[in-house]
Amino acid sequence: MPAKRKETTAHVHSPAIEDYLEQIHNLIEGKGYARVVDIAKNLGISQASVTNMIQKLDAEGFVVYERYRGVVLTDEGRKVGVEIARRHEVLTRLLAGFGLDPKTVHEDVEGMEHHISRRTLDVLTLLMEELEGNAVLMRKLRSKLERLG
Ligand code: ZN
Repeated sequence: MPAKRKETTAHVHSPAIEDYLEQIHNLIEGKGYARVVDIAKNLGISQASVTNMIQKLDAEGFVVYERYRGVVLTDEGRKVGVEIARRHEVLTRLLAGFGLDPKTVHEDVEGMEHHISRRTLDVLTLLMEELEGNAVLMRKLRSKLERLG
């Protein structure tokens, strides 16, 4: 029996690890580097807790922590960070397209982004792209949603 391909399933890493790698990836994309102080601020966690977690992520091969350069992603860490950031974006665009309030979208996405497989994300991506390109259908769905109360 062929081995199950790990990368296509959800729940490969803990939500906490995924949140860190997503955050580190976003910081590096945006600022060029990720410092403990910024990770702590963005995740709303103390710097001491972040430092502990970074050491764990370093030991597990997801990041390399250098005192002066900050946190650098390994290939494996980047792969996870990119994937979670992609789930976050697709889910956010899909839900925001329906006009849901940003707080609800954010809270729901933060939960859902840890619990969908690659294939489900492909489905949601197709749906999002189709809806974003079809204003008539989007209006119809939004007014149906309104009527649900
Ligand atoms: Zn997220």
